[in-house]
Amino acid sequence: MTLKFFNSLTRKQENFKPIKKEEVSIYTCGPTVYDFAHIGNFRAYVCADILKRYMKYSGLKVKHVMNITDVDDKTIKNSQAQNTPLSDYTEKYTKAFFEDLKKLNIDSADVFPKATETIPEMVNIIKTLMDKGIAYKGEDGSIYFSITKFKDYGKLANLNLEDLQEGASGRVKSDEYEKESAHDFALWKAYDESDGDIFWETDIGKGRPGWHIECSAMSMKYLGEQIDIHTGGIDLVFPHHQNEIAQSEAYTEKKFVNFWIHNEYLQVEGKKMSKSLGNFYTLRDLLEKGYSAKAIRYLLLSTHYRTQLNFTLDGIDAADAAVKKINEFISNISNIKGNVDFNEKVPKICEKAKKGFEKAMDKDLEISQALAAIFEMMKEINILASEKKISKDNKEDILKLMDMFDSVLGIIEKEDLNITDEIRTLVDEREKARAEKDWKKADEIRDKLAEKGITVVDTKEGPVCKKR
Ligand SMILES: [Zn+2]
Repeated sequence: MTLKFFNSLTRKQENFKPIKKEEVSIYTCGPTVYDFAHIGNFRAYVCADILKRYMKYSGLKVKHVMNITDVDDKTIKNSQAQNTPLSDYTEKYTKAFFEDLKKLNIDSADVFPKATETIPEMVNIIKTLMDKGIAYKGEDGSIYFSITKFKDYGKLANLNLEDLQEGASGRVKSDEYEKESAHDFALWKAYDESDGDIFWETDIGKGRPGWHIECSAMSMKYLGEQIDIHTGGIDLVFPHHQNEIAQSEAYTEKKFVNFWIHNEYLQVEGKKMSKSLGNFYTLRDLLEKGYSAKAIRYLLLSTHYRTQLNFTLDGIDAADAAVKKINEFISNISNIKGNVDFNEKVPKICEKAKKGFEKAMDKDLEISQALAAIFEMMKEINILASEKKISKDNKEDILKLMDMFDSVLGIIEKEDLNITDEIRTLVDEREKARAEKDWKKADEIRDKLAEKGITVVDTKEGPVCKKR
């Protein structure tokens, strides 16, 4: 098995080889907790989740770190506008973020470091960069990274440093800016009145960190100086990730990240998501409209991560249908009695699906082909089920495989239906009564099952038990 990913740094697909055989290190740029995360943010987190889950499926151990940016220009501005202490303000949105992750069934990172708890590490990096003559203090006391002192500046973002040279004498203090204004950027922002009570007294002066240094410090603190994979939305390539590389590599003199994996933009109803267009959705907005979190997850994961995703409300309905189809399949198969001989066709169908799924996922997480392999298997198994040609052992094999697939997809509803022998007998009796057109008896049995919390749904493949 060889995993291949598209590496933004080299702009090609490469075979993945972890630095440490025993554990893959992954860093994901987490949320800036100044508001509820929107659906575009969650695309990035679902993509990272699929990547991480598939690595685990492939037998790799993973250590995943996702930071929480709880101090930056935006968090300070918003908390002041609401007259709330910064920590109370960010706590609210951090909590909301964790709730949203859970709803979307995104596996927790191993560490969720907070920027405000990593200040000494940031100061240490900045001090070293100053000692090396790569960072310098401006007139206002802020400390800047000199991009001309780092020869590979611009490599990730595909910028030509020579083109930048003429403009490079300027500097930029804000955390976000366009490629055209690539300048020396702020590592440390000297205190000014507008920061209110947000500052740290440190060896490099009174102030607060720039956004970019936060991720370098948190990545190195928890994953070491060199990591396997750094993920994030494509909107973070410049300046954020470019600056992370510059700071980290100038500091360690080692390659910071082997694989940069970026997911493409998400549009809503064919347009860039914006509050003024009324197509700006948080997860909460969509759940309030009655959409299910599993369907939203499925919609976010079912488009290849390097393809732009057009997120539409109709798309959530279609995703919901797909999720239901998979869950109904599981439920149908679980309900099979299987008092027939082992069907040799089943292992062949399962093996084909497993190979198809893995071949697609190994190749830069080609999710559409992977899902197609699963749906094809479901179709073939459903035919055998309708012909009552699935044995008890066949059934177990099918369910086990679906469970494996779901360890990556995370969309199966885990209902612990406890189908006892008594329930099984009642279902059989009801089926018999129906076959004999004894509707009264069939209804009586249905009521008995209902008392036990079981609903029977009649499908092409026979009766299926569900939780009431
Ligand atoms: Zn970051």
